[in-house]
Amino acid sequence: SSIPRQGDRPSPVAIGESSAFHRDLLAPTIREAVAGDGVYIIDRNGNRYLDGSSGSGPSCLGHSNAAVRAAMHAQIDAIAYAHTAFFTTAPMEELAENLCADAPDQLSHVWFTNSGAEAADAALKLTRQYFLDIGQPERHIVIGRRAGYVGSTLAGLAAGGSAMRRGPFSPVLPTNTAHIGPAYAYRGLLEGETLDDFALRTARELEAVIEEVGPSRVSAFICETVVGATLGAVEAPSGYFREIRRICDRYGILLILDEVMCGMGRVGTRYAFTQEGVAPDLVMIGKALAGGYAPLGGVLVSNAIHDAIRDKTGFFWHGHSFHGHTLACAAALAVQREIERRDLYSNIRKSGALLDQLLRERFAEHPHVGDIRGRGLIQGIELVADRATKRNFDPSHQIHTKLSEHALDLGLICYASSSSSESGVGEHVLLMPPYIVEPHHIEEMVDKLGRAVDRALRAESA
Ligand code: PLP
Repeated sequence: SSIPRQGDRPSPVAIGESSAFHRDLLAPTIREAVAGDGVYIIDRNGNRYLDGSSGSGPSCLGHSNAAVRAAMHAQIDAIAYAHTAFFTTAPMEELAENLCADAPDQLSHVWFTNSGAEAADAALKLTRQYFLDIGQPERHIVIGRRAGYVGSTLAGLAAGGSAMRRGPFSPVLPTNTAHIGPAYAYRGLLEGETLDDFALRTARELEAVIEEVGPSRVSAFICETVVGATLGAVEAPSGYFREIRRICDRYGILLILDEVMCGMGRVGTRYAFTQEGVAPDLVMIGKALAGGYAPLGGVLVSNAIHDAIRDKTGFFWHGHSFHGHTLACAAALAVQREIERRDLYSNIRKSGALLDQLLRERFAEHPHVGDIRGRGLIQGIELVADRATKRNFDPSHQIHTKLSEHALDLGLICYASSSSSESGVGEHVLLMPPYIVEPHHIEEMVDKLGRAVDRALRAESA
């Protein structure tokens, strides 16, 4: 077997000696992944890590799916890449058809990208070109949500609205964006307010901001259907998106939903927006689209936008060398067919219910877990110094970084992160296991997470 045995070679790679530019330049070492085995990643030393977050979401089928590997081998034997300026290919056409088959009728086109952030840029440029092509050039302001994330390109950071992720880059960002608050009930619900009222109040912030910046200048509202990285599996209360859609229609602005993290099945249906009873104009997808077997993102585009651009300019002023990459599309098509063939949507719902139950059993009484939330196989816990007041830990203690390290030591990959919101810098852990998880994996995940939380908090309780 090519899978290494324990002790073959020291696992950590010294970052200072590596020619690859790693993100965290202060970390002394990083583990070296050498193989995948279902829901596990194996490092150079033979240690196994349960992939409790599918990386950052993509690895929905785990790491060694035979059908995807076979499809990719067959495609690379035929042709790996043909530029979309000159050719279309069967994998790209079939994938687009497959993706549109489960979308509402008015969303029947897909623009492919290489990543989720590029899907944000493409969606923003599609919006811009649409309004130019229908003769409304003054519409150029995009409204996003504070503490949102739609990608780390400069346009993505501008529209996404997470101050923390913009970090020091703010002066170079475009300024034609505005933001409303997130629908974040754990922190935002007022004393005595019902969730229904909260949903309407937070959605109507959009109307107020549109009026403030000038209704004829606004082009689109963009947000995640379920918030992932920046807040940790935060769903909007029922009714929120219907109100958002109503406001967008009233002012003639486009609704762009970012389903890069929560789409492609993660919440138990292929698209999360179908659970909200709304149809967006543009839908960003990525991550689990190609299951991590290849980089691929995309945007589902409404017929109205597609036809306006076709009828006026005749082409979309955009492109990348690799968009619609043939091998990536073949991988994605195999991933999507595998999800359907194995009816993994059922497993997502069933496993999601078990994950929710075990998280509640383990953390409902935990003094430093303020909230347990999420849907399907995107769930999270929010860490707090004090449950009663919801006070956050001192950010300099970096609990989430320690937690992530302890989890790795215990053999668990989880997505622990800090979040900046109106209440300061908070911390949460996202769990997004592959759709193929079995009950014993979920038990292992929650057990190891519990131990990692306790280890990370030991110094705080001392
Ligand atoms: N949108 C959301 C909701 C995401 O979570 C991410 C990545 O985490 C992106 C967009 C950007 O995707 P990518 O990392 O593929 O550029």
